[in-house]
Amino acid sequence: MKFELRKFNRDIMDQELLDDLAAASRQLQSTGKKLTFRSYREVGNYSSSTIAARFGSWNNALKKAGLILNEEKDVSIDELFDNLKLVWIAKGKQPVYRDMSCPPSKYAGSTYNSRFGGWRNALKKFVTAFEHESINLTSSTRENRKRIQKRASRNPPLSLRFFVLKRDNFRCNGCGRSPASTSGLELEVDHIQPWSKGGDTVATNLQTLCFDCNRGKGASLPF
Ligand SMILES: [Zn+2]
Repeated sequence: MKFELRKFNRDIMDQELLDDLAAASRQLQSTGKKLTFRSYREVGNYSSSTIAARFGSWNNALKKAGLILNEEKDVSIDELFDNLKLVWIAKGKQPVYRDMSCPPSKYAGSTYNSRFGGWRNALKKFVTAFEHESINLTSSTRENRKRIQKRASRNPPLSLRFFVLKRDNFRCNGCGRSPASTSGLELEVDHIQPWSKGGDTVATNLQTLCFDCNRGKGASLPF
């Protein structure tokens, strides 16, 4: 018997947990398995519940680690649609099934299959839900604005936030820092021309800023 002091979970940095998640995912993948709350226990160095508690939920932890979510429970239809929209925008055209298994997608095609009874059905439901919505990411021409009529909300939808963060390479446009290099750095999506001054919630008017740079701007408010 060895008398070893067990490491206190609260002393572990978030990044260590995320790194271990990524390592566990790779290890499981090499044996054809997927990283889930249950399978992590077999190969991870920490407990699945510790990780879930630290990041608010298991799915949040996977998202923070940049991994595809394999557990489809607890994922709302809205979240699946937002993810599909993000991939559609990122690709610039209708995604195919295998597009869902790589970044920026967070949910695998199989999740859509089982939730909607097939990939084709998922696409149909998505298009029906969003056919009234037109997203123009490259321009906000007067014509386009007229067509949309109603001003977009101040809060960018999840998919647009992801799009802006990804476009800016997950770095603050002010100081250049990223969560990868600075632990605990929070990135926010900021209106370049403030929303309060008529700035639109479109990709061309949005930029990635860290918490500090965003607060330091004075005239503009977060989001
Ligand atoms: Zn910054």
